[in-house]
Amino acid sequence: MTDTTQIVARFQGPFGNSSEIKRRTFATGSQKKKSPRVSIVAGLHGNEYDGIYICNLLTQRLIRHNEQGSITGEINIYPVANPDAVLAGERSAPYFAEDFNRQFGSQTNTTLPGQMAQALFKDIQERSDYVFDIHASNLHLAELPQIRILEKHRRKLIPLAQMCNTDILWVHPLGPVYESTLAYNLNRNGIPALVIETGICLRIHQEYCFQILQGLLNFLRKVGCLKAQENTPDFKTPQTLNPDQVVIIQAKKAGLFIPRIALGKEVQSGDWIGELIDPLSEQEPEPVFSPACGLLFTLRQHPLTRPGSTLARIALKPHED
Ligand SMILES: [Zn+2]
Repeated sequence: MTDTTQIVARFQGPFGNSSEIKRRTFATGSQKKKSPRVSIVAGLHGNEYDGIYICNLLTQRLIRHNEQGSITGEINIYPVANPDAVLAGERSAPYFAEDFNRQFGSQTNTTLPGQMAQALFKDIQERSDYVFDIHASNLHLAELPQIRILEKHRRKLIPLAQMCNTDILWVHPLGPVYESTLAYNLNRNGIPALVIETGICLRIHQEYCFQILQGLLNFLRKVGCLKAQENTPDFKTPQTLNPDQVVIIQAKKAGLFIPRIALGKEVQSGDWIGELIDPLSEQEPEPVFSPACGLLFTLRQHPLTRPGSTLARIALKPHED
């Protein structure tokens, strides 16, 4: 059994400082057969800390498994894929101000973020049979633990995603924004890559992190990277959502949104979701009601809204034939 840390890419800052992307690898010592290899990436967006915490929790578990000799594959952890952005608590590294998860898939991108993305991609590609890319939403919306899958990869990815103890599998149509992401380009090159979204950025939601940790451990056991059998708590069977099964509640006017419901609740049509207030007006708050029955899997946390801002998303119940 081995436990090694390596530098995947290094770049020099303007004042002699350097930044490094590191990978920690736990591997079986056995060379007898081809062992499965799973990689977990976090921190592509620097203000999303849930994934970094999940990597830390997983690393602690793998240290114990390594001591017990129960690692039967190779597990690579890239806990801080965008170190300058993580240190700054910003989505993108301040010096470059470019979204790091929009730098993949182009060999002609010669910017420094582009070169870093190529180095990271090459390292992941060479040592992965499966990849997880963990994100923690944005500044505005809190998310129940979910895996997002592009429609074109659904047959390959849904059976894998069902092992991961999330609440939701959300199948998306392809949009141009995805084509420069890490996961899209891994999937395009034949390496199944699952994008996890959970919580909200700049916070750590411990309960969700533990839920995803259990999902990752289960996945590692199912594909043969871990032989240890642990008592698994109640496991979630995620609800698979096609695009037409997601209802988005949007603000009709600008204001401050005050949620009046907890994320993860099952709502009925007409339930009170929250209210919009105009702080400079004497008008009564405008109530926001659910237009449908289902699972409230996204809820706005940033109060400031504009007309059309997303306030919540509801997963409609599956169709009954
Ligand atoms: Zn992200």
